[in-house]
Formats: sequence, C-alpha cells, structure tokens
Amino acid sequence: MTTKKISIIASIAIMAVVFYQWGHLDGKKGRTSGPINEASAKASEPHLDVYYPGTEELAADEMRVIACGTGMPSPRPKQAAACWIVELGNGDKFLFDLGAGSHERIAAQKIPYDYLDKVFLGHLHVDHFGDFGSFWLGGTTMNRLTPLRVWGPSGPTPELGTAYAFEKMEEMYAWDIATRSSIIDARGMVLDVTEFDYKGVNKVIFEENGVVIRTIPAIHSIDGAVSFILEWNGLKFTYSSDTAPNSWWIKYTKDSDISIHESFLPPSLMMSRMKFNVKEALNVSTVAHTSPQQFGKLMSLTKPRLAVGYHFQNDFDTLPIMIAETRKVYDGPLVFAQDYMVFNITKDAIDVRMSAYDEDIYPELPIRDKLDVPPPTSPPFSEFILSGWEKFPELVGGIWDKINKENGTDYKVP
Ligand SMILES: [Zn+2]
Ligand SMILES: [Zn+2]
Repeated sequence: MTTKKISIIASIAIMAVVFYQWGHLDGKKGRTSGPINEASAKASEPHLDVYYPGTEELAADEMRVIACGTGMPSPRPKQAAACWIVELGNGDKFLFDLGAGSHERIAAQKIPYDYLDKVFLGHLHVDHFGDFGSFWLGGTTMNRLTPLRVWGPSGPTPELGTAYAFEKMEEMYAWDIATRSSIIDARGMVLDVTEFDYKGVNKVIFEENGVVIRTIPAIHSIDGAVSFILEWNGLKFTYSSDTAPNSWWIKYTKDSDISIHESFLPPSLMMSRMKFNVKEALNVSTVAHTSPQQFGKLMSLTKPRLAVGYHFQNDFDTLPIMIAETRKVYDGPLVFAQDYMVFNITKDAIDVRMSAYDEDIYPELPIRDKLDVPPPTSPPFSEFILSGWEKFPELVGGIWDKINKENGTDYKVP
C-alpha cells in the first residue's frame, strides 16, 4: 500500500472519530434547530431533510425521539414491533419497549451500547420485548461493558411479572452466557431488573439526573400493562405502549410535548387486510386496543403539542384512512409514525424527519476500557469434541505471531 493511500485512510478514520464524538459526547453545544417544523407535523408526514445518525449533538435543552419499531407483532422489512429511543440533551438515553425486529433499528442509530443501558417495558408481549435477548447478549458482544438496567411492571400474580420473566430468561440463556463470558469482557451481561407496581397511578419509578419517569396503568389483555410519562427540563414525553383508552391517560398525559399512543387499524381494515373475522376485528381494534377514532378522541382531550399514532401497518393505502378516521374527532398536530422517524423537540420547535441508516454498520467504540477476560468457569471441551478439532497450527501460529508483533503482545495459541 502506498503512503498516500495510507494517509487517506488515516484521514478518513480520524474524520470518523471526530464525527462520532460530535454525535455522542455529552457536551452542551450542538445542532441548532432550523425553522420550527410544526408545519411538517401538521401535514402528517415527514419533510425531506434527513437525520444522519451520529452526526448531530443534541442542544442542552433538546429531546430526540427515534422510532425503532412502529408495527405489529410479526415484524416485516419495513416495520419492526414496538420500540422507541429517547435521547436527552443532558446525555441520558432511554429505550421504551424492545419489540421483535427492533434491535436492528437500534443498531442503525450508531449509539454505543454503553449509553443504551436503560430499558423500560410497558408489558411482556413479544412485540414489546421480543428482541430483548438479542439486544442484551448481542449488545454485549458489540461492546456494551455496562450492566443493562430494566424496568417493567408486576403482574396479577408473581409468575406474570417482569422479575419472574427475566429470572427465567437468564436461565434460558445459560449456554450463551457461559460461552461468551470466557471469550469477551462480559460486564454488559449483568442484568439489573426493577419490577414496579403496575397499579401505580402517576407514580415515580425512575428519578435520576433531572429525569423523572412515572407510570400509569394501561388496560390491555390482563392486569400488568402500563404506560409511561417521562419529564425532563420542562419537556414531557408520553408513551402508551399498548392500551385501550383509559381515564389515567386522559388525566395524566395532558399537555405532553410528544404523545405517542397506539392506534390500530380500524375494524374494516383488520378484516380486509389481516383476514380477521367481524368479531375479532371489532374486539381487537376497539376493545383490546385503540382504533384511530378512539386515538383521535384521546388526543383531542389531552391536546399534546404533537400526537403520534403507531402500531399498525403504515402503508400508502392505510395511512390516508388512518388520518381520515382520526380527523373525524381531532384537528391538532398529528403524525403516524414509521420506523426510522426522528423527532427533535425543544420548547420552541418540533422537527420531524426520517433517519438515514448504514446497512454496513459495525459496533461503536465502548466508552470504557476493556478488561482482560477471567479464566472460563464453564466446562471445558470434552475429549470427544477435542478429538475432532483440526487446529492447523502452521497457519494459526503465523496469524498469532503476526498480530502479536504488530501489537507488541505475546499471547500464546491455546
Ligand atoms: Zn400488547
Ligand atoms: Zn403491541
């Protein structure tokens, strides 16, 4: 390789680090929002400016919300199941729900996993925590060195609560945990689970660094579902997870800056597009969940600065119907979310755009140094498995020698 090529590659690497730090260090200066984009919100669609992950530092008073899953329980290329990232100008980042398929969208945001250490679950349906195992253990292999903190509701019985679910999940992944922890720095595998009372009404479940998160009960399937209210720096984010319309939502989410509420397809579309029968469609759309007219009614009663509907197949032929149904009862700012939609929120402006994503994403740098891996505690290979191992010492020895020499190390081939 020529010197010129090497210096170009080095420049690209330095630029990448600078951009990375610009996007992720928690400083005070940052992106200045363009003109207020309430208009784009009112138009029920994003405007054409694009958000490039990792390139915009939040202003000190700014909140960024990213839709990483807006669809249904079976993810599809266009829409994963429920998941939202909330990033704050103080450097804090939160995940609300982690539905099936959402991990890929989270990774596309180029946020080091160490920052994504707080997950809040509205309930324990797979479309709200189906990607948890992948995010937790896959994230550890992708440089998370920080324990993962999880908050989720209790259930009507202990076996239906969050603590029980995660106790069993840790047992279920015993093989995965045992194998990886002898190869890589495994501090990120530690789970810190907090189960809170699902009956809490506007009760604080998290209070750190100027951020307060409260829950209100949700009405969904059986007892044990909740909705969230996050308040920071005079901004209020509310997220329904899944719920039928309820009085707690109406009472406690008033005047939200961004109010994200489920809005299922109306019964007619559940029948024509999803092959539900009449009874199923009526019950699922308007009783187990919230139909667009009910969603609109909730928004007209709570008057957020921006109403965001999600949890349906958002397509060219469903969106106009969703808007028309909602507009029968609500005339305020409205967006129906798609995956990769990004909301920048300050007291002055709400900016709605789509995020670009890099399909060739690699893990971001960890934010602390890696430790040497302690000796394995898992059982060693059996004699039987060892008997079949072709180690190619003449090849592997050379690879180890070369890497050792380049890095000033002296590791021996095991
Ligand atoms: Zn659900
Ligand atoms: Zn759901």
